[in-house]
Amino acid sequence: MTTIQDKRPSKASKSLGSLARWWRDYRVFSRYRGQWLLAIVFLLLAAAATLAVPLAFRGLIDTGLANPAINQKFLDLLIVAVVLALATAARFYLMSWLGERVVADIRKQVFDNVLRQSPEYFETLQTGEVLSRLTSDTTLVQTLVGSSISIALRSAVLLVGGIVMMLITSIWLASIMIILLLAVVLPLWAMGRYVRKLSRTSQDKVADTSAMAGEVLNAMTTVQAFVRESYETKRYGRAVEIAFAQAKKRTALRAALAAVTIVMAFSVMVFVLWMGARDVASGQMSVGDLTQFVLYAVLIAGSIGALSETWGDLQRAAGATERLVELMQAESAIPNTIVTGFANSTPAVDQLSSPAIAFKAVSFAYPSQLDRLTLDHLSFSVPVGSRYAVVGPSGAGKSTLFSLLLRFYQPQSGQITVFGKNLLDWTVDQLRLQIGVVSQEPVIFAASAMENIRYGRLDATDDEVIQAAKSAHAHGFISALPNGYESFLGERGVRLSGGQKQRISIARTILKNPPILLLDEATSALDAVSEREVQLALESVLPGRTSLIIAHRLATVLSVDRILVLDEGRLVEQGTHQELLAMAEQDGLYARLARLQLA
Ligand code: ATP
Repeated sequence: MTTIQDKRPSKASKSLGSLARWWRDYRVFSRYRGQWLLAIVFLLLAAAATLAVPLAFRGLIDTGLANPAINQKFLDLLIVAVVLALATAARFYLMSWLGERVVADIRKQVFDNVLRQSPEYFETLQTGEVLSRLTSDTTLVQTLVGSSISIALRSAVLLVGGIVMMLITSIWLASIMIILLLAVVLPLWAMGRYVRKLSRTSQDKVADTSAMAGEVLNAMTTVQAFVRESYETKRYGRAVEIAFAQAKKRTALRAALAAVTIVMAFSVMVFVLWMGARDVASGQMSVGDLTQFVLYAVLIAGSIGALSETWGDLQRAAGATERLVELMQAESAIPNTIVTGFANSTPAVDQLSSPAIAFKAVSFAYPSQLDRLTLDHLSFSVPVGSRYAVVGPSGAGKSTLFSLLLRFYQPQSGQITVFGKNLLDWTVDQLRLQIGVVSQEPVIFAASAMENIRYGRLDATDDEVIQAAKSAHAHGFISALPNGYESFLGERGVRLSGGQKQRISIARTILKNPPILLLDEATSALDAVSEREVQLALESVLPGRTSLIIAHRLATVLSVDRILVLDEGRLVEQGTHQELLAMAEQDGLYARLARLQLA
């Protein structure tokens, strides 16, 4: 797996290489060949029209205003302008379309691939980083495809065309001009590189301030509880001022550079113009020729400027694509395929005789802590239709056990079966469809109550949703909301109480209707009344399913078929509440836990 946090500065050439590879692998050109070709045709047409403008002017000037043929010359100029306008508009539309289209494709591919990653991936990758790549990095690519490429192509065509036309107009003046311009442009180019480097540091400083703001905004309640508003404001203020100082330095340099460029370029122009004027005076050249020459010179200077700017865009886009490609190509540690490849030769699943869940000597360590076994030779089985509780001190590995069952992680040794079938023989999707999860902190999406419950089964009708809500004892409070089931629940369900969120999540699970249920009981978030409501909701989802409950309440442990007691990843005791309490004399862990937690 490539980790994203690795931010070593990569060589520009390496980035350009990966840009080229991406261009090929994702068929950026061949997928939209028609649009590209059309865009290039219009681009060439517009460039040709631009190059024809000086010709039209010369025609105008050399014909003379008194000459009746002048009308045709004015018409020629107008036609050139109309062709230029139409071709430019078409080129602009097509290129921008391509930019937007390619970015839309990238966004979808990145999102799709990131959603397929296992939790391990998200331990090293910050979600904020993915978001910023989906927005800012894709914008850089969009600038590249949508405008930089066409500017570069157009400028290159104008540059070459302009030089050729200038040479045709006056080979002598053109040669002098080219030599002088080269003498001026090369040192300026070198200075430009330095300014670009400065602008990169300045961008980094701005990114630093955003990172700081992000951190503070996410911790608002802590900041305010410690009355650290002015402390954070000062800290942020300092970062902003550093960014400003950098920007000032860069801007001053750019301003100076602009002045130097203009003076040098104009000196060359004025000098060449002066020589041209002498040629006109001595009759070696017409006024129209000189005008034409000057216009080409202006075109060429403009193209050189544009080309040097697009070079910077290209480099930035190359860096951005490199980061995006990492996201698009990351391989999930848990692929959605049948791993063993023996799926067809596994014995037919016998739901009656096999346990719903079985762990056989399962040992597991988190990838980030391979030297510490979080689960240690864990073996147990849960018969179909029974209700088991898991108890144990904090950090015993209860949630980890759920994660392994859902195949978020892969145990290092041992075997887990669901309905008699090895986890590796299930596709991840099929496996997860068998299992419903109700967690301590249910997730509520920024959508209506109806949509939040329907997340459990997307094709459920409104009636089915309402039925599920009724079973989950959620119908009452949802109906009392201002817009009933259509009420917007707010981001992360801020408009609901903890118990209400949990009942919504239970309704969602009822709709999903999985044969196995994993339930993480809320510890203390709920008061007695809402705890009772949640309990009632659970009573309507539990029957007829196999359930494994991380239990914190006496009511739960009393009603289950069997209790598994975990400690430091090992199964230390198991039995019914009464059996385990009987071990009190031997000071069993359960008896101690029961005294502390459940009483
Ligand atoms: P609690 O009742 O407090 O939720 P638990 O019994 O559910 O505890 P787990 O969450 O399974 O315990 O954690 C078991 C151990 O694994 C803990 O020591 C924890 O620090 C560690 N752990 C949990 N998640 C990870 C992770 N993603 N990477 C590394 N270690 C982890």
